[in-house]
Amino acid sequence: MDPKPLLLVTGGSRGIGAATARLAAAQGWDLAINYARDEAAAEAVADEVRTLGRRALTLCADVADEGQVRAMFATLDRQLQDGGGLLAGLVNNAGVVDVAARVDEMSGARLQRMFAINVFGTMLCAREAVRRMSQRHGGAGGAIVNLSSVASTLGSPGQYVDYAAAKGAVDVFTVGLAREVAAEGVRVNAVRPGVIDTEIHASGGQPGRAFRLAPTLPMQRPGRADEVAQAIVWLLSPAASYTTGAVLDVSGGR
Ligand code: NAP
Repeated sequence: MDPKPLLLVTGGSRGIGAATARLAAAQGWDLAINYARDEAAAEAVADEVRTLGRRALTLCADVADEGQVRAMFATLDRQLQDGGGLLAGLVNNAGVVDVAARVDEMSGARLQRMFAINVFGTMLCAREAVRRMSQRHGGAGGAIVNLSSVASTLGSPGQYVDYAAAKGAVDVFTVGLAREVAAEGVRVNAVRPGVIDTEIHASGGQPGRAFRLAPTLPMQRPGRADEVAQAIVWLLSPAASYTTGAVLDVSGGR
């Protein structure tokens, strides 16, 4: 019997990551759910996955910390050896914003954190996944989906230009890595959400942001996490077998 395909979702404890884990489980994936702080929330998502009849494990790691990323993948390797599974997908979803500020007000520490989590976290996890999935390394292939943002096309002036710039780096990384590993059985794509109703806005000090912006959005409403998850899970699936290096806007036209 072939080993069961497992999907690692970073930042899977809530929002878009949790919605992705639920939908992927419903479509047959086993799940590894990474989180940074909220173990109880990650365990609750894992329980939902198990209710759908799939295997789920939770992995605590700060994706910005290379040592923690290495340790997370090593733990995953051991669990997969014991359980007979195979890492076949990665969703680089963990990401952060910060409070609204102009660039001339931003500290160096803020910029370091913004890029450490959103850019280097994505690149470190992708590196570890490619080392396991690429046929060049003896792997069986797989798919990676990176979470960008339409902020990378808008620049987010007066809000978080640093975040927009970090997501711009994610777009370019997606295209470059996709071409690098295209002949090795690994597809790499990105999804660029618009304004989605999750807790990320509260974490940036603007809990009502998604609905406050609704009248300015083409569809007059924010998106839902499950609407973004649909695009992510499609990009992971064999239905997207000839799609790589794509950056897909899921932004309601924004
Ligand atoms: P969210 O609700 O704030 O959830 C963020 C998740 O990331 C949480 O599970 C959190 O885990 C985890 N996380 C944060 N820092 C981490 C770190 N250093 N290491 C590992 N995990 C970490 O965010 P969301 O709205 O679902 O956003 C998900 C992705 O979509 C992000 O990349 C975001 O930039 C992107 N996006 C969101 C929107 C939007 O409007 N919501 C728009 C465009 C793009 P803990 O709770 O355990 O800390």
